[in-house]
Amino acid sequence: MLEVTGLSVAYGGLRALSDVSLAVGEGQFITVVGPNGAGKSTLFKTISGIVPPQGGGIRFCGEDLLARPASDRAHLGIAHVPEGRQVFKSLTVRENIEMGAFPEAGRRHYARTLERIHALFPILEQRHAQLAGTLSGGEQQMLAIARGLASGPRLLMLDEPSMGLAPAVADMIFDRISQIHREDGLTILLVEQRVAEALELCDRGYVLETGRIVLDGPYQTLMNDDRVRRSYLGIG
Ligand code: ATP
Repeated sequence: MLEVTGLSVAYGGLRALSDVSLAVGEGQFITVVGPNGAGKSTLFKTISGIVPPQGGGIRFCGEDLLARPASDRAHLGIAHVPEGRQVFKSLTVRENIEMGAFPEAGRRHYARTLERIHALFPILEQRHAQLAGTLSGGEQQMLAIARGLASGPRLLMLDEPSMGLAPAVADMIFDRISQIHREDGLTILLVEQRVAEALELCDRGYVLETGRIVLDGPYQTLMNDDRVRRSYLGIG
C-alpha cells in the first residue's frame, strides 16, 4: 500500500532522514520506534506532504505521492494524526471531528463513522459541545484520532499518541488503536517512543536512529534482538 524508498530529508544543513526505506502492506500494523530526534515526525511529515524530501520516492496505492500536494494526499486516504494532537482548541469536539471529514470518503460515510467514533470513545459523545482546548490530554488524543478516522482513511498514521499521557491513559489509547486495526481492518503506521508497548501491537517494526533505519523485522525478531532489548527495553 505504502512504499517509501531511499528517502532523504534535510532542514537547511541538518540531515534528518538518510536513505530511509519502508513498506506498509494493506491491513498491516507497522511501528517505527526510535529515540528523540531520530526523525520519526519528519518521516510522517514527508509522507503527508508537509516537508519536501531531497531524494527518494513515496508510492501509495500505486500513486507517486511526491507528485501530489498535501491536500491530495488526504483525499487519497492518508490520515496524519500529528504529534502533540494539534486539535483546534477553540472549536468544539464535534466541530473538530467534522473538520476531519473533508475528503469525499469522509463525507460519504460521516454518520456511520461518527457512530463508530462514539463507540470507541464514548467520552467524545458526552463532551461533543465542549471546546477542544478544555479537554484533558488523553481526551485530546482521542479527539485527534477521531478527527483522523473521520476522513475515512485507508492508512492511519499516528505520531506518538502516548506522548505526555499517564501510563494507564496511554495503555487505553494503545488498546483503542489495536481495536481499530483488529475490528475495522484499518492499515496503521505508528511511531512511538514507548517501544515495548508499541512493538507488541505491530506485525512488523522498524528502528530509526539519527535518521537511518538500523533494524527491521517482525515483532518476535525485534523483541529477541539484543540491541533492542538493551537499548530500548532495558533487558539484558
Ligand atoms: P521526537 O520524538 O523528539 O519528536 P523525532 O524522532 O520525531 O523526535 P524529528 O522531529 O523528525 O524527530 O526531528 C529530526 C531532526 O530534525 C532533529 O534533529 C530535529 O531537531 C530536526 N528538525 C525537525 N524539524 C525541524 C525544522 N522544522 N527545522 C530544523 N530542524 C528540524
